[in-house]
Amino acid sequence: MAEPARRIDVLRTGPRFTAEQAEALNARFAGVPTIAMLRAVLREGLAGDLAAVSSFGAESAVLLHLIASIDRSVPVLFLDTGKHFPETLAYRDTVMKRLGMPNLVNLTPNADALAARDESGLRWSYDPDGCCEIRKVQPLAAALTHFDATITGRKGFQSGTRAGLQRFEIDRTDAAGRLKINPLADWTGDQIAAYFAATGLPAHPLVEQGYPSIGCSPCTSKVAPGEDPRSGRWRGWDKTECGIHVDGAAEELPPGYDPAF
Ligand code: SF4
Repeated sequence: MAEPARRIDVLRTGPRFTAEQAEALNARFAGVPTIAMLRAVLREGLAGDLAAVSSFGAESAVLLHLIASIDRSVPVLFLDTGKHFPETLAYRDTVMKRLGMPNLVNLTPNADALAARDESGLRWSYDPDGCCEIRKVQPLAAALTHFDATITGRKGFQSGTRAGLQRFEIDRTDAAGRLKINPLADWTGDQIAAYFAATGLPAHPLVEQGYPSIGCSPCTSKVAPGEDPRSGRWRGWDKTECGIHVDGAAEELPPGYDPAF
């Protein structure tokens, strides 16, 4: 039988990474210092095309400093929700300039989605999940179609829901099989503080005002000494994450919930 005149192009539609590959990476880097792990990931291209996702919150500068010490060109994605404290926007610019990272990507909500679902800008007050979907989940989903992996600053100590966090995991918010890398997964609060002290990195100006975890202004409140650091986020709501970090298998997501990342 004659060979076809040309090969048929094949679109890669399967997941980029599997849970087994994530586990293999966890095993390979078990006990390896964070900076060495990150250097291997970035220099050996272990995770394909990747971007850092940063909230420019209380501890974000540590992760970005580690990345910048290896590769300043890594894109930094920021969810510019339109609801941030002005101090956060100023801090974002200060940190990026200080680290010499040129590739800041501000992800803004779709104007049509805002007009249709949050014209008043008050959706956060009666439907924070819906507000986060428009202002965070959807813009990030659109941006992440271009990437194989993301680097996040999440840490296990931040809350009960993040305890036991792995360095490498599969992003379960869609079926793309994107790798999510959490270099600071096992860092403690003391280590974060020591890193700030050793590097002289600037602190987010709201930290000293009693905000150990900083998100959008309407959904962030001060935290009393001894409280869970993230307890000031969506206080009064049964909500602990904004939807860009979803645990569990993708098929367990609620019907109709189809965010990416
Ligand atoms: S954190 Fe609050 S204001 Fe920000 S997107 Fe979510 S619900 Fe809206």
